[in-house]
Amino acid sequence: MESTTRIRYGKRFDGKYLYHGNDLGAVCAKARTVFRLWSPDAERVELSLYRDDTSEAFRTLPLKRGDRGVWWAAVEGDLHGTYYDFEVETAGQAARTADPYALACGRNGLRSMAVELTRTNPAGWAQDAPPPLPPEPVIYELHVKDFSHHPDSGVPPEYRGKFKAFSWRDREGRIPLCMAHLKDLGVTHVQLLPIADYATVDEGGDDGQFNWGYDPMNYNVPEGSYALDPSDGPARIRECKEMIQALHKNGLRVVMDVVYNHTYYTDSWLERSAPGCYYRRRSNGALSNGSGCGNDIASGRAMVDNYIANSVLYWAKEYHIDGFRFDLMGLMTVELVNRIRRELDLVFGPGEKLLYGEPWRAGDSPMEPDTHPALMANLPLLNPGIAVFCDKIRDAVKGSCFDARGPGFVTGGHGMENAVLSSAAGWPEGAWEFNPRDPSQLINYVSCHDNYTLWDKLLLTITPGEVAPEAYAQPREEVLARNRLAAFICFTSLGTPFLQAGEEFARTKLGDGNSYKSSPEVNRLDWERAWRFGGLTDYYRGLIRLRRGLPGLLDKSAEASARVTNQTVHRPGTVSFQLDRGGPEGERLLIVYNACWEDFHMELPGGRWIVRADGQWADQHRPAGTEGSWVTVPRCSGMLLLRRRDEPPELEGEAPPDAPEFPEGQA
Ligand code: CA
Repeated sequence: MESTTRIRYGKRFDGKYLYHGNDLGAVCAKARTVFRLWSPDAERVELSLYRDDTSEAFRTLPLKRGDRGVWWAAVEGDLHGTYYDFEVETAGQAARTADPYALACGRNGLRSMAVELTRTNPAGWAQDAPPPLPPEPVIYELHVKDFSHHPDSGVPPEYRGKFKAFSWRDREGRIPLCMAHLKDLGVTHVQLLPIADYATVDEGGDDGQFNWGYDPMNYNVPEGSYALDPSDGPARIRECKEMIQALHKNGLRVVMDVVYNHTYYTDSWLERSAPGCYYRRRSNGALSNGSGCGNDIASGRAMVDNYIANSVLYWAKEYHIDGFRFDLMGLMTVELVNRIRRELDLVFGPGEKLLYGEPWRAGDSPMEPDTHPALMANLPLLNPGIAVFCDKIRDAVKGSCFDARGPGFVTGGHGMENAVLSSAAGWPEGAWEFNPRDPSQLINYVSCHDNYTLWDKLLLTITPGEVAPEAYAQPREEVLARNRLAAFICFTSLGTPFLQAGEEFARTKLGDGNSYKSSPEVNRLDWERAWRFGGLTDYYRGLIRLRRGLPGLLDKSAEASARVTNQTVHRPGTVSFQLDRGGPEGERLLIVYNACWEDFHMELPGGRWIVRADGQWADQHRPAGTEGSWVTVPRCSGMLLLRRRDEPPELEGEAPPDAPEFPEGQA
């Protein structure tokens, strides 16, 4: 297909072929179905209809060439549930392809399926609505199969690892243990690892297979291995909608992790249907590889942007998805991501849908002229309603994710004090060459699906020599303390808190630092462990509740950072700061992070203070003392104090105490 590769894409091409209709694919109604395929360079396109995944076509018909590169055919009769694909001939070469715009497909996504979407709706779908927008999102990153695969999940065996696990209830209408845990934690958004169809799990194969799902195949169809019967196109859609409906009913919004930066196969439906149009190439014709996965989708080209924007809007409208997390957003353009923000706001209301992504890419990628990659460096160009994962807080708190044993602030790493203080303040004034407009652009996290779990990372960092396999299971107090402090920092920093599922009960993958295709047993949430580490979960639950009641921490405005004052490095590993008007009635907060393995004694500033959280209990109330008295922040713990209102107000901007100097290496 090299001969037809469109290396020189430009305005002239768009002038002739750019198609703005949102009706590509199969538009299916009872009376007839209209098939449309965009294939600007094709000489011939043929449609084949099938009864099932594997049989010969029962009907084949030519598509007519319409305007702007769109080929079409109308077929009379009810085709709901009918499989189809196309044969596209370009430059004398014929290629068989499923429909990149398909809304349904069969097992393993090899054939597309026509569906009348109203017939895929579960009962009560018209009334489905997300819970009201919370004052602040707290995001929980979850994989569909991880959620319920464990025998202690409370889900019947036949539904474990499936969409159905979310919507299943027992005969008395009770939800299973895994869902009860999720509902009770206090998070507001569940971010699902890719639920759109991906390539590498054989949907007809055994249950021992696993993949995170960053290997996209059919963008507008739910993944078949999460369905009870991957061959039943409409049922797969219904079960996915039931999952979203169930999460909504349990008070949770649903964010979808979307992978519009590359496809698993370079010889994808996109390439086969319109050779050369959807991927970036270098001037020598070679595919670019900024994704590290062999190809980069060419966002920045108008037709590609339409494809991606329409796909996002489709999931939001048809599946009631409440937000999107863009994988390798740094390969997408600022212009496209801003456009998606605008279009979602227009349809659903400003800010109703959450948008954020990874502001990086695996390598350089050739962009179209006048477009900008949605990288960290281009944050000032992104709409403030688009947030990015802040790898700086992640690495400062727990250490580099590329060096298993590299320490961070909570594990005795040196020189992280100022990074942790900047993070708490939302990275003001271009600190660390990082220019968020305001905390609305920050997703704060210390663990996600990539790299080690927080528990494993902490254990690997503080253990000299090999970590024995049984060590991962032990609730060792030192690791628990460091874990609680890491969470405490994340939940007392400006920005949006995010956590990996199971972080709240010391999730372990037994030291597996890249489990994208490891066994379900390594990946799944261990609900027996959740019970054993229930104390840690209580701590997380308390932090979430505490934060919700402290407006100063929730503030996402451009003025938020200015509330943070009195940043002080007391000694290596111990810092504190104050937050002006942080409490519910405008009280001042004093926040201390003591990562040293020694207690820290601090003289309280003016006023009468109460402890609202420490290293053992988040969300508490106990008197700490008044000006001049001393408070002890135990070794490796955080403390949040609030100044009671009954004291006379104090002058703002009080001078910070002098930071004592300490010889190096005292942490
Ligand atoms: Ca699949």
